Amino acid sequence: MRRPIVAGNWKMHGSRAENEQLLEALLGRYPGEAAAACIVCPPFVYVQDVGRRIRDSSIQLGAQNVSAETQGAFTGEVSAAMLKDVGCQYAIVGHSERRLLYRETDQLVARKFAAAQSKSLIPILCVGEQLAEREANHTRDVVARQFAAVLELCGVQALAQAVIAYEPVWAIGTGRNATPEQAQEVHAFIRGLVAAGDARIAAETRILYGGSVKASNAAELFAMPDVDGGLIGGASLKADEFVAILAAARPV
Ligand code: PEP
Repeated sequence: MRRPIVAGNWKMHGSRAENEQLLEALLGRYPGEAAAACIVCPPFVYVQDVGRRIRDSSIQLGAQNVSAETQGAFTGEVSAAMLKDVGCQYAIVGHSERRLLYRETDQLVARKFAAAQSKSLIPILCVGEQLAEREANHTRDVVARQFAAVLELCGVQALAQAVIAYEPVWAIGTGRNATPEQAQEVHAFIRGLVAAGDARIAAETRILYGGSVKASNAAELFAMPDVDGGLIGGASLKADEFVAILAAARPV
């Protein structure tokens, strides 16, 4: 049985005061023994503060990005060791905003995945197609290509310590989510890619769906057999929504 995960990607939102309000509401309403694990991924500058605030709770801490480099003259970058040092347990790698706006290639994403794991951070590997790619029937090719870069560099065994997030780019921040059937189809495809290398790891890997998940659509998405929770953007900034999404996630 895979315990679902609901991870909040706060993106470049928040302030110390806003984070405090959100966390206070979450801490008061997220029961530690909940069916789903809860992760929050604040902007880098707030990671340590947030980590302190959630220390005695079962909410877990993630970063939105990580450098592929270990240390050195890389102005503006944050290493996996630094994230680990301030209490992070997870790091998102390959978010579509990083791939598209900052031109992160599949190979760079794979190196970030490896860098995270080298410091025992669990990578949350995002994959997903753009609208034109879906319309041209290339969804599987794109996802397989993004995935292959990680498999080539790290091997299938690395997936035993990783989380995957399928995030169709056309559904991110648009209010237009994939249907549960569309999500299930790609999630099953991804699980098949993992199973081709190792069936046991495939059965245990959490594959999250991301893209306009809200309280109103979470339950039907999470009811799909290969959807193991969600990576949540906009709705993770609203305590009521995020708590309702968490409550909608149960092992299937
Ligand atoms: C995301 O940024 O990963 C995301 C899924 O955003 P949203 O939920 O706002 O679509």
